[in-house]
Amino acid sequence: MNLILFGPPAAGKGTQAKRLVAERGMIQLSTGDMLRAAIAEGAEIGQRCKAIMDAGHLVPDNIVIALIELKLDEAEDAGGAIFDGFPRTLAQAEALDEMLERRGARIDHVIRLKVDEDRLIERVTKRFEDQGRPDDNPETFVTRLAAYNAQTAPLLPYYGDQGKLAEIDGMGSVEAVAAEIDAVLG
Ligand code: AMP
Repeated sequence: MNLILFGPPAAGKGTQAKRLVAERGMIQLSTGDMLRAAIAEGAEIGQRCKAIMDAGHLVPDNIVIALIELKLDEAEDAGGAIFDGFPRTLAQAEALDEMLERRGARIDHVIRLKVDEDRLIERVTKRFEDQGRPDDNPETFVTRLAAYNAQTAPLLPYYGDQGKLAEIDGMGSVEAVAAEIDAVLG
């Protein structure tokens, strides 16, 4: 089974993905985590993306598509992937569908975590204090939310038209959101 966790930054996608990994043995494919790892390792791709990420903008589609493609065999072996923070543009969504189709696979569910943007700012302010991610600072976070609304939210009809979209309340406790996700996945 392949699942996309969909929602703005700091909606709780990563938290829920990690729980699903622990409980279901799938793998989490977070392009944000992959890019941060590339920066930490001093990889060339990380150098190219760091300034864009620190400014809160999206990195080029071809970079994240290539990062995901490298992991698809591993995902297949694990019985499926939880895509977290990917796709973020229509070009990425179309590329993902093509890459999966070539493997005889597909996206089964897209779960949108619906959240209140004002409360997200509070959440991310706390994450910034705890983890110190440069792009969690409040000014950059506003840019990231704008990128989500302009470039990523328009993907919702793409998955809605495919009959794959489930919308759940992302503002509840971690346990409440987990229960709603489990109800969709069965
Ligand atoms: P995230 O951890 O998912 O919030 O991602 C952190 C940052 O990495 C984003 O603000 C973007 O700069 C970059 N990034 C992560 N995933 C993508 C993606 N699918 N497309 C473009 N940029 C991405």
